[in-house]
Amino acid sequence: MINADTKVYGLFGYPVKHTFSPVMHNAAFRAAGLNSVYLAFEVKPNEIGSALKGIVGLGIEGINLTIPHKERALVYLDRLSPEARLIGAVNTVVQRNKKLIGHNTDGAGFVASLKKDVLLHPKGKSIFILGAGGAAKAIAVELAREGASRIIITDLIHRRAQNLALKIRRTFSNCAVRVSSLRKKETAKNILNSDLLVNATPVGMKKSDPLLVDADSLHSGLIVYDLIYNPVETKLLKCARAKRLKAFNGLGMLLYQAAISFKLWTGRKAPVEAMRRALKGCNQC
Ligand code: NAP
Repeated sequence: MINADTKVYGLFGYPVKHTFSPVMHNAAFRAAGLNSVYLAFEVKPNEIGSALKGIVGLGIEGINLTIPHKERALVYLDRLSPEARLIGAVNTVVQRNKKLIGHNTDGAGFVASLKKDVLLHPKGKSIFILGAGGAAKAIAVELAREGASRIIITDLIHRRAQNLALKIRRTFSNCAVRVSSLRKKETAKNILNSDLLVNATPVGMKKSDPLLVDADSLHSGLIVYDLIYNPVETKLLKCARAKRLKAFNGLGMLLYQAAISFKLWTGRKAPVEAMRRALKGCNQC
């Protein structure tokens, strides 16, 4: 029951209408027996500063940030976790004693899903990442920290991929990082030498989107993970499954990044199964 003691959490994004996060987090609060509520706030890009100040003014306990705020919000926060500082983006803000602390749970959420859903440990693995934007940065950093032996990155903006490679090379000397061009021949050669292919671009969200990789490069030893979860099956996943490969959408990452945020906010272990059930319900809507 919502009353004067109810603690408030939420999401700042623009747009936010499509989000599954309120359903998932409110299910978590109910399952944990917490008098808390999670709301989605549509915050325009130029209003992120005043919205974050409002967290302190209103006594909101914690916030998730999504597109387009993950990087823009940094300057308004009082402290960053080592991961958020390294990645250069924040998806979770915790308020403690009127100070805002920024974290990034996307990379750890992805790796948790790899270990628990895919049953794959990144240690010693060769990974090809399509995209070098916010999600790719978080994932690449976490994969390198977990001991991936090789990461190859490609992006429409070559410089963006180079900057991400440089960041990882400087911090994780045991991980060989390379940048690939977008030429299908080079991409195919690199995928053929990879254990895991990750799509961290938005390509696949629209029905008309092309397949970014050559279908012949999807070899029998490859696992495919598409961060997109809406639609639940992208062209890439369809193609991988037609070849009988293990193929996963982004719902697992969404679940585990949220579970880590829940722990940061409440200090309690997240009720992951209740959150998973709530997500499944959204998916069927
Ligand atoms: P982002 O910051 O915009 O990054 C996407 C990157 O991919 C950009 O650098 C973009 O370049 C690049 N790109 C676009 N088309 C490309 C192509 N054809 N080839 C190579 N690179 C291309 O977005 P994001 O926040 O990282 O999100 C990426 C995807 O992951 C989205 O679909 C998002 O919904 C999903 N995601 C899922 C979760 C989850 O929990 N499952 C969490 C975060 C994100 P330009 O900027 O030049 O277009």
